[in-house]
Amino acid sequence: MMVELEQAVRLLLEERVVALPTETVYGLGGLATSKAAIAKIYAAKGRPQDNPLICHFLNAAHIQPYVSIVPGYWSSLVHAFSPGPVSYRLPLPEGSPLQPAVASQSTVACRIPDQPLCLEVIRQVGVPIAAPSANTSGKVSPTSAPMVEQDLGSEIAGVLDGGPCIYGLESTILDCCQEDNITILRPGAIGPDEITEVLAQQGFRKITVNYAKNSQRSVVPGNKYRHYAPDTQLCAVKDLTEIPKGLHAVVLMSQEQATARSWPTSLQPVILGSRHDLPHVAQHLYRHIKSVDEHDNTTAYYLIEDWGNSSLGRAIGNRLRRASQEKRRE
Ligand code: AMP
Ligand code: MG
Repeated sequence: MMVELEQAVRLLLEERVVALPTETVYGLGGLATSKAAIAKIYAAKGRPQDNPLICHFLNAAHIQPYVSIVPGYWSSLVHAFSPGPVSYRLPLPEGSPLQPAVASQSTVACRIPDQPLCLEVIRQVGVPIAAPSANTSGKVSPTSAPMVEQDLGSEIAGVLDGGPCIYGLESTILDCCQEDNITILRPGAIGPDEITEVLAQQGFRKITVNYAKNSQRSVVPGNKYRHYAPDTQLCAVKDLTEIPKGLHAVVLMSQEQATARSWPTSLQPVILGSRHDLPHVAQHLYRHIKSVDEHDNTTAYYLIEDWGNSSLGRAIGNRLRRASQEKRRE
């Protein structure tokens, strides 16, 4: 059911769950301080209980009282990147009112979304809003209100329509629990180059910024679960010859890959966009991934490619890899 802002606020205050627009993907919002609301989020998504939720705040001053320590560089990052597509993992004090949302972690991932309707909801509700992506666990994240309605419409109290999401990919998650090091736990639109530039401008030259190594993957409990998958089995292939001859199938690929070769008539390309326009690829990525379900095939393919080393390129490659990681060949 589509709801207006006023109704969304009322439902949230009644400890119910409402899908909210953000600039990254739609979030399934509930009061971060309410056990009842958080239980409804986990139930609606079928989300594993050990996977914590990102909490959404109005501004930095709203975050401060909910976290125990913030590193010296944090306010510079917030000033540069928030509101925006970055979540900051920070230490949580014992006995925190946010405990229902963090699945027994001693940290909380905090974000200030850059979406006026969403910020107005947070302002009117007055407490942080926990909001994981508004999809059934493991499935594609929704980037428009109709996508949410189609997946979770019958499970939740309402959907607030804020139009299509501008970024289309989930936030970059930064581990800000250490004074001298920032680890990128999930790649997103903002990456090491952007962060290092801000740190240098603000005189924080000794702080290192790195992508999480494999050994650090468990810091994000959600990493162990499958993500972003359409209902159709999606297989990653390095070359079209890996697809059984004559099989009718759709193949996800860039504009460049599509024009670089001739196509057997049995294969239908789904063009994700150009490698030279990554914001466009990101914005439409989940809609394209989901579109493979519109075809009557049991298997779809992703033609693996290098989306480059920019933050967005790495984020796009990361999501496509995770969407197609379970290769089950017939
Ligand atoms: P989503 O559920 O789609 O919003 O994705 C949120 C991701 O952030 C999941 O993979 C979570 O495991 C991760 N996450 C949320 N809170 C924390 C935290 N405190 N520490 C580490 N990872 C977190
Ligand atoms: Mg998600």
